[in-house]
Amino acid sequence: MSKLTDFLAGEKILVADGATGTQLLKAGLKAGVAPESWNLANPEAIRALHRGYIEAGANVVLTNTFGGSRFRLGRHGLEGQVKEINEAAARLAREVAGEAVFVFGDIGPSGELLKPLGKLPYEEAVAGFAEQAEGLLAGGVDAILIETMSDINEAKAAVEGVRKVNAEIPILVTFSFDTHGRTMMGAKPDKVAKEIWALGVTAMGANCGRTLTETLTAIEQMRAAVPEAVLMAKPNAGLPHATVGDTVYDVTPEIMAEYAHKFAEQKVKIFGGCCGSAPEHIRAIAEALK
Ligand SMILES: [Zn+2]
Repeated sequence: MSKLTDFLAGEKILVADGATGTQLLKAGLKAGVAPESWNLANPEAIRALHRGYIEAGANVVLTNTFGGSRFRLGRHGLEGQVKEINEAAARLAREVAGEAVFVFGDIGPSGELLKPLGKLPYEEAVAGFAEQAEGLLAGGVDAILIETMSDINEAKAAVEGVRKVNAEIPILVTFSFDTHGRTMMGAKPDKVAKEIWALGVTAMGANCGRTLTETLTAIEQMRAAVPEAVLMAKPNAGLPHATVGDTVYDVTPEIMAEYAHKFAEQKVKIFGGCCGSAPEHIRAIAEALK
């Protein structure tokens, strides 16, 4: 058993970090620039991001690699630097996390539709995710988190890709149920739970989404579908509201802390925030779950 699976077998809930993207925009990342490019170009901003969450009480930080696959980096002409960028991200997170905090290598969706709905062949998706995982593992992550998924088939391709590189590393998979209780691709929480848990993943759950209530409902349905599952949730701090020159999310740290208890009732073992959640939210969650 790895240190993580050991931990997940215990009673304690791990506190995960908050948003990466929205925080980097606050730190000066220009819209349209790949956030992952900062792993090489602005490493101090990435260290500061991780430090902020760890100081707030996070036991888990995610690498800044949501769009770190060749599919997404290719949109910025960075497809030749997949390994370099992912390895750098993992090293930065590890450097700040030390051994006391878990580092999850983050893999987001390809942004493409897989065949037959779209053009991306399944095998190509597997190869792309494997390439990203190789960089993350070289940089020393404790686990791989495949997140904000919509398509069950794509999530399977990602799991397969990671396992091609390392069959032992713990894999966690979370979906975004942001479309009337389903994923954008129409997958319902109970179906997702059954199919993903059958892959033998370490944990699964929901992240991003629209509101805390909707994400909680998705988690309740996953729990009902697979009672023995290890679940994880990383909901958004509500919905973004554009105000003059800034984007504000409507969920306060206090509300997030209140919901941390509701997610804990569903025996969620890892809980953090997604878009719009800052270190203040993570501090409130850590306090609430003490
Ligand atoms: Zn999000």
